[in-house]
Amino acid sequence: MTKNYNTEDLNNRLAEREWMIQTQLVSRDITDEAVIKSMLIVPRHKYVMEDKQAYAYYDTALDIEAGQTISQPYIVALMAQALELKSSDKVMEIGTGSGYSAAILSRMAEYIYTIERLDVLAQIAKRRFQDQGYENIEVYVGDGTLGWAEKAPFDAILVTAGGPLIPDSLIHQLAVGGRLVIPVGDKGVQKLMRVKKTATSELSEENLGTVRFVPLIGTKGWRESIMLEGL
Ligand code: SAH
Repeated sequence: MTKNYNTEDLNNRLAEREWMIQTQLVSRDITDEAVIKSMLIVPRHKYVMEDKQAYAYYDTALDIEAGQTISQPYIVALMAQALELKSSDKVMEIGTGSGYSAAILSRMAEYIYTIERLDVLAQIAKRRFQDQGYENIEVYVGDGTLGWAEKAPFDAILVTAGGPLIPDSLIHQLAVGGRLVIPVGDKGVQKLMRVKKTATSELSEENLGTVRFVPLIGTKGWRESIMLEGL
């Protein structure tokens, strides 16, 4: 199923997105056509603050509101590819942030449930989804380390903040055959892990490489006070 897109948004800075895709994604290891199409469609510059819009298509993460970050385009593509999405998939994302990765996933899958702990970010992301006419995304404000039991099971789960371990609640909410992608490690650097639920009580784990994400804060993540340590 091809998701709709707005022609005006598509044409807006399209050449920069084509350049981003060629020089940052295809030149590395992004081969999933659905990921590439989605990265072409979604106007990344509309997911950053005004003073960062000039850099929206650069090969870098950028600061967003509330001291958080929007991931580097390549990392978003890598995670989306690792989820091995089908167009019929129901996906949960933890860490809505700017809304960009949820928007990318929403052009590839059936429905996206995304959780953000900071209300201010959730409200900004919601407005962006409305502006772009992306109707298959629901945003929930809360602790994503507990997942979203009422909407489970999920075919794919993406966590876009780094935690000390893989929350068991997320494993429970993964469908058989489902894929979970999550950065696991310490506060500065993590391993991007992919967990597949191969049978009801059988998991396979792979390390997809080293990444740097902002902390996953919650019941099954870091304590909030971690933010104050070392100041
Ligand atoms: N996917 C985002 C990345 C944002 S950074 C994007 O494309 O822009 C990670 C986000 O995770 C931050 O906004 C942070 O507030 C949020 N976060 C951290 N711990 C969380 C938790 N337990 N539940 C939900 N969101 C969390």
